[in-house]
Amino acid sequence: MKVLVTGGAGYIGSHVVRQLGAAGHDIVVFDNLSTGYRWAVTCGELVVGDLADEAAIADVFARHEFEAVLHFAANIVVPESVADPLKYYSNNTRNTLNLLKAVSEHGVPYMVFSSTAAVYGMPDDTVLTESMPLAPINPYGASKMMSERMIMDLAAASPLNYVILRYFNVAGANPDGLLGQATPEATHLIKVACECVTGKRDGMSVFGTDYETRDGTCIRDYIHVEDLAKAHVMALDYMAGGGESQVLNCGYGRGFTVREVIDVVKRQSGVDFPVEETGRRAGDPAALMADNGKIRQVLGWQPAYDDLDTIVGTALAWEEIWHHRQAGDNA
Ligand code: UDP
Repeated sequence: MKVLVTGGAGYIGSHVVRQLGAAGHDIVVFDNLSTGYRWAVTCGELVVGDLADEAAIADVFARHEFEAVLHFAANIVVPESVADPLKYYSNNTRNTLNLLKAVSEHGVPYMVFSSTAAVYGMPDDTVLTESMPLAPINPYGASKMMSERMIMDLAAASPLNYVILRYFNVAGANPDGLLGQATPEATHLIKVACECVTGKRDGMSVFGTDYETRDGTCIRDYIHVEDLAKAHVMALDYMAGGGESQVLNCGYGRGFTVREVIDVVKRQSGVDFPVEETGRRAGDPAALMADNGKIRQVLGWQPAYDDLDTIVGTALAWEEIWHHRQAGDNA
């Protein structure tokens, strides 16, 4: 298929691009390189552009006849969204609207959208099914919930089919060391802990130790980026085979506390970096875990890397590679 991948130079997008290329798809990446890199686009053509620029979107759609759009480009940092909500409603919600206008105008039949467990908010149950009510507690989750809704409404009014994937906590890296998370000023837990190992950071904080969880710190469902990437390739195959629109959780259905994650990073690396316990971070729900029965059933998806040691091991290996590359030539 001829596919457009927005945000394909970023962390998750670049892993998906690589798998799409391996599966034989013809790829155009559209990315403003705000947090992505040219080197991360290992297949297809890179168009440097911003989804705020409707003329740039129109241009890429005029030059290619896309059968599918995979939409990754977004800001994803919960505390930043609390501090600067309009950035999230602009870059996530409005820019999705800009993209959908082109999808609609050109009659693109398939769309895969990167959504998030943050759309669920602070649920009563910690294991989440797709049918639970959406009640985001931060602007990031709200910006994605609104994007989901626009996609659903357009699909109801047109031939568009979609698969909305609600990601839980994505981590890890391509096991052959080609790709990984290189996001500048990353804030996500496993990435931050890995940066403590390489010495990029002197230490880190645990945000909140008074949650109602087994050790007082937040529980998250960490999913390996290669398993997540596979779900995207399978979603395209599913729609091409006539499958109807779906909303699917992407997680393993189990969770680890912040302390448990940090312990694994320290044990695997052998580096005992300083960890300070501080207050809660704005916008954090206590526990989020995916019920993944639906994605297993609908797509036949099965995890290959469901193991925290594997996730942390690949993240650590990538962090060392990335650290040395940056020290060498700022690539
Ligand atoms: N966290 C932490 N220290 C950090 C980064 C994250 O204690 O330096 C915690 C955060 O408060 C949350 C969990 O780790 O409870 C996962 O946060 P992350 O930012 O990785 O992902 P999110 O769940 O917000 O998407």
